Amino acid sequence: MIYDIAIIGGGITGAATAYHLSHFELKTVILEKESDCSFGVSKANSGIVHGGFHYSARNTLKGKLELRGNQLFDRWHKELDFAFERCGILVAAFTPSEMEEVEKLYASGVANGVPGIELCSPRRMLELEPKLNSSVCGGLFAPQGGVTEPYMLVFSLIDAVKLNGNDVKTDFKVTSATEHDGVWEIFSENGDTVKAKYVINAAGLFADEVSEIFGGEKFKITPRKGEEYLLDRLSAARPSKVIFPVPAAHSKGVLVIPTAGGTTMIGPTAQITDDKNDNSTTKISKDEIFSLAQNMVSGISERDLITSFSGSRPVIENKEDFFIAISKCAPNFIQAAGIQSPGLTASPAISEYIGELLVQCGLKLVTRKTPFILPEKIPHLRELSTVQLEKLYRQDPAWANIICRCEKISEAEIRIAVRRGHTTLDGVKFATRASMGRCQGGFCTMKIMQIIADESGIAFENIVKNKKNSAIIPTPQKKL
Ligand SMILES: Cc1cc2nc3c(=O)[nH]c(=O)nc-3n(C[C@H](O)[C@H](O)[C@H](O)COP(=O)(O)OP(=O)(O)OC[C@H]3O[C@@H](n4cnc5c(N)ncnc54)[C@H](O)[C@@H]3O)c2cc1C
Repeated sequence: MIYDIAIIGGGITGAATAYHLSHFELKTVILEKESDCSFGVSKANSGIVHGGFHYSARNTLKGKLELRGNQLFDRWHKELDFAFERCGILVAAFTPSEMEEVEKLYASGVANGVPGIELCSPRRMLELEPKLNSSVCGGLFAPQGGVTEPYMLVFSLIDAVKLNGNDVKTDFKVTSATEHDGVWEIFSENGDTVKAKYVINAAGLFADEVSEIFGGEKFKITPRKGEEYLLDRLSAARPSKVIFPVPAAHSKGVLVIPTAGGTTMIGPTAQITDDKNDNSTTKISKDEIFSLAQNMVSGISERDLITSFSGSRPVIENKEDFFIAISKCAPNFIQAAGIQSPGLTASPAISEYIGELLVQCGLKLVTRKTPFILPEKIPHLRELSTVQLEKLYRQDPAWANIICRCEKISEAEIRIAVRRGHTTLDGVKFATRASMGRCQGGFCTMKIMQIIADESGIAFENIVKNKKNSAIIPTPQKKL
């Protein structure tokens, strides 16, 4: 068969675009090199739905799409199954010169038309967030900013894409492509092929390599690594709003984030690296992040640290903006590259923008004739009342069997995640939060593996963390 559109990359950019296109009479396929979607940059970020004041909406594409993306999150939240809260964003100044920078951000927000943006006195800042360090000398409040769980958002978009008749092929690393008579033939590392009329390059950190495969524009992705540190959900330091410092040269600075999952996160750093696969964290960065976060919010303690991770922003060398455009070099090829921060926030707007580019390429977007199907929202044990839980328990006792004690995740939630195609430990973790808490899987990993084995038919000893060579049970033990 020939797909109308092939999207390379199953991160937030690819998933959002496929979701938007699912509303039309089109057959789309996502090609993803990893074993599940959202295993690239979209799993390792701060999860903030930014407020629309950091960049000019008139002079930058990322500023324009951030603003529109922020607004569209309410619609997505109604339609899809993911956590999202408009908790608000504060930018805190601790010196008069920092306050001057905040005033510039405020002016930028006003020029962008950000609703409800407010310049605040120290008193107002402490009223809005009593956990701020009392030496704060003023700041900015953007009530429309919020937090979300990025991987759950991607998974819900993917569920909808599949429910509406489109395909998602994981373990499909695009390695070459040819074009004949308006049809692209795309080849994977494993020898599989897919044909499509239009191709969208949403390959994140690897968008430069994918562009080259298709004969598209030449550019270089320079990864800008950010380390994040996660504190226990019981941390007394958890603020009610996202706390930003004044921005640094190449980032928005180190933040204190009340995550949508109920924990507290501090970070990220911004270091240019030349290794796209570098997911390490370092003691130097940890010390720096804790010190910066402690200066802003009282009560942040290393004793609450439960884990750390890093991700790299896919920044195009010498370009501080997204590159979303019809390729001038390759036919029917659309670039969605350089999707650095605020790519998550902008994603609903990026998907619309790509839709408009496809129309300019000659594609007709005809509204689908059959009703659009939304994914069923899955209950979460930790949010259920006793009455609700009892009702579910009567249908299936697995709802009352807690597998992950730290995050209170039931066997039923894990079974549903596996049935929806998440058959690695990380896939289940990102779909349910199982093993994301204080013990980091110390108590529940084996139980989760057993459920994956039961539901998927994969042998227990062959279950992996996230990719082929990440088996949990080492080969000698497998033989036993
Ligand atoms: C530390 C950090 C913090 C951030 N915080 C925020 C935030 O708070 N708010 C915000 O709005 N943004 C934030 N961002 C930015 C945001 O995470 C990114 O803009 C967004 O995730 C990019 O998504 P993507 O889909 O373009 O890329 P990805 O998620 O990386 O997806 C690309 C996909 O393409 C696949 N792929 C690559 N090559 C191939 C190939 N050859 N064949 C098949 N598949 C391929 C990859 O495996 C990957 O899954 C942050 C980024 C970082 C690093």
